[in-house]
Amino acid sequence: MEAIQVRPGVWAFLGGVNLGAIVSEGEVVFIDSGLDDGPARKLWRWAEGKGLRPRAAILTHAHADHFGGAHLWAGRGLPLHSSELEGMMMEHPIFEPVLLFSGAAPIPELLQKFTLAKPCRISGALALGPVGFGPLAVEVVALPGHSPAQIGIKVGDVLFCADSLFPPEILRKHPIPFCYDFSKALDSARALEEAEALVPGHGQILQGEEVRKASLAFRAHLERIRGIVLEKIATPKTADGVLFEVANLLGASFSNATEFLLARTTILSVLSSLVHEGLAEARVEGNTLLWRRL
Ligand SMILES: [Zn+2]
Repeated sequence: MEAIQVRPGVWAFLGGVNLGAIVSEGEVVFIDSGLDDGPARKLWRWAEGKGLRPRAAILTHAHADHFGGAHLWAGRGLPLHSSELEGMMMEHPIFEPVLLFSGAAPIPELLQKFTLAKPCRISGALALGPVGFGPLAVEVVALPGHSPAQIGIKVGDVLFCADSLFPPEILRKHPIPFCYDFSKALDSARALEEAEALVPGHGQILQGEEVRKASLAFRAHLERIRGIVLEKIATPKTADGVLFEVANLLGASFSNATEFLLARTTILSVLSSLVHEGLAEARVEGNTLLWRRL
């Protein structure tokens, strides 16, 4: 993990998942824990090395790679905070693989740490707006879309925006970014433009003009996916048929069921948004659920 001081008292730790730390008057609030005990332990040691007392942790959303290490902090008495809905999923993390597996009991592959975190008790749900932790003040911002109630954390002009934006280097590796609500994901990505510095959940820190460029590029990428889906359902297709076409056009290749199911959820989020907009319909024909452009 590479520690970068973005602003005085505002730290980002770049790794598989980017983490944050807000420091004031000898106390520190962590942002996200990473996938497992490893990064959570490292962040705690970093704070101890600087003589800082961990005061609380804020968890942006209930995906295992962002909160999987938080149980270690809870075991050390650190209060954990999140939005109410995401917090419920953190307390019952089985919902992540269950949702990915269409509500059925998940296959063993989905029951490992990448999609099933250890549960952690959430000490308090965060409302949107300013929140104080002793000497530390941050602003909680709603960034839904990637997950139902993801939050971002604003400190001065720096926004820890979690997975509301995937920078180009991440999209090249994963061209179908995970989405729960496609139109809200677009809205959240647009709202990021106002930040002066962004710490996304994955990839490099963005500053100044890079913020606007990355927001535009991410939205253009999402719009491209939406355009492909709309074009392909001119002839009725199953969701898997649509995914096949999108993956081929964007050069995505899935190496396991987890990657396939994550991308499939994104395609369903696009199809659902098209139905909500009156541009598509879902119809059963010959015992097959087909999606068709209107
Ligand atoms: Zn995520």
